[in-house]
Amino acid sequence: MVTIRCNCFKQSLTKVGTLSAVLTSLILFSFSSANACINPLKGKAIQGGLIIFKAENASHIKLDGRAVSINKENGFVVGFHRDDVDLRTINAHCQDGTEFKLNLVPEQRIYKTQKISGLPNNMVTPPAKILNRIAQDSELVKQARSQKGTSTDYFISGFDWPVDGVITGVYGSERILNGAPRQPHFGIDIAAPTGTPITASAAGTVVMAKDLYFTGWTIIISHGDYLSSTYSHLQDISVQLGDYVNRGEIIGVVGSTGRSTGAHLDWRINWLDKRLDPQLIANKHP
Ligand SMILES: [Zn+2]
Repeated sequence: MVTIRCNCFKQSLTKVGTLSAVLTSLILFSFSSANACINPLKGKAIQGGLIIFKAENASHIKLDGRAVSINKENGFVVGFHRDDVDLRTINAHCQDGTEFKLNLVPEQRIYKTQKISGLPNNMVTPPAKILNRIAQDSELVKQARSQKGTSTDYFISGFDWPVDGVITGVYGSERILNGAPRQPHFGIDIAAPTGTPITASAAGTVVMAKDLYFTGWTIIISHGDYLSSTYSHLQDISVQLGDYVNRGEIIGVVGSTGRSTGAHLDWRINWLDKRLDPQLIANKHP
């Protein structure tokens, strides 16, 4: 009988030939070794979720057959997109010579529908002459989010809420703007008065500090292991591209720049192109 416990995953694994157990919230773990040389520290397999693993005694770790890079603290992360349903498999060699296998099936969620009317039509359907700028903006955002970042545990103590305010929009909701269905919303909207300070959710490097068409003044911070946080619609920013920021450091103030109907912060967390749900990942709401 092997029991592994941590406060994030209520789990109890029993050896029956091959170790296997179906965990709460549809997380399926199967171990071909009694030694779990890879351990989940935080998070769970759920759409929009992030799992932080420690791999103290493992090498050659692969996620779905592709090599995973381990950071200096022997950690690595796995994130799940809004609509991910596929099984993800982690394989590794343990130091004791055994092979480790872990299957992750993301728990599926039901998302809200959010209707927003009264937006200026040129913001919902941008004029043709602005399409180039929008394409450039999105390429820059993609580049910023594709940076691996410094490999260190900037995010190991989680992500702090960047501003105190009222949540007016949630992750994953389907959006109907001026009556027309659009891309789902991937951020958390936090309404707060214009000028309210916004702080970095975790330490990292500023990989974008720019005024964009849709998101107005936008800051992206890279936290390492391809994890980034994005802050949009700022009235003003107080950091520059390349700056290192500490957790809790002021990076700008709340505004309503870009496509926005009022003063709020749109806060996002990405793992490469996987869009994660800050509400699942963040530390306690203030
Ligand atoms: Zn938003």
